[in-house]
Amino acid sequence: MKHELPQLPYSADALSPVISAKTIEFHYGKHHQAYVNNLNNLIVGTPFENATLETIIKEAEGGIFNNGAQVWNHTFYFLTLSPNPKSEPSGKLGEQISLDFGSFAEFKDKFEKASAGLFGSGWTWLVLNSKGELEITQESNAGNPLRKGLKPLLACDVWEHAYYLDYQNRRPDYLHSFWNIVDWKVVEGRF
Ligand code: MN
Repeated sequence: MKHELPQLPYSADALSPVISAKTIEFHYGKHHQAYVNNLNNLIVGTPFENATLETIIKEAEGGIFNNGAQVWNHTFYFLTLSPNPKSEPSGKLGEQISLDFGSFAEFKDKFEKASAGLFGSGWTWLVLNSKGELEITQESNAGNPLRKGLKPLLACDVWEHAYYLDYQNRRPDYLHSFWNIVDWKVVEGRF
């Protein structure tokens, strides 16, 4: 199975000033594409040649896991973002966020703190656990919550390549601006 880079439903400059066209050009056009290319090269002649990304995330190790998870993670991340987002969760997800975190504002604060405090490269996730509760989790490098049986709802990429061109070392500024382009309609659809 040949994996493909997904099309983005917005233009490269659409998320500016939160994420610049230059960052999309590199992060999506170069990094995301490289994970797709690497994965397609690595799976040839292995048990994962015809596997879905979800199977690769749950079962693979090493380079196949790293590149497969990064393809999935980046597609999930980029497709959560929008130039015209729904700015707050409502309905069942909105209620669950208030129940598990106190309020939407408290959730955002906890998510930002978890993202700022993640050492090195990785991802912060909002996930649903098997008990039906929401959790914020951190994963290093290509880590993905599907491997632990958790359901991903939202991801923030905190690898430097996600923000360095726009924010340099100011990761907290990237995290704070991130909320301006998260489309909660997309996140609600995953809940
Ligand atoms: Mn990235």
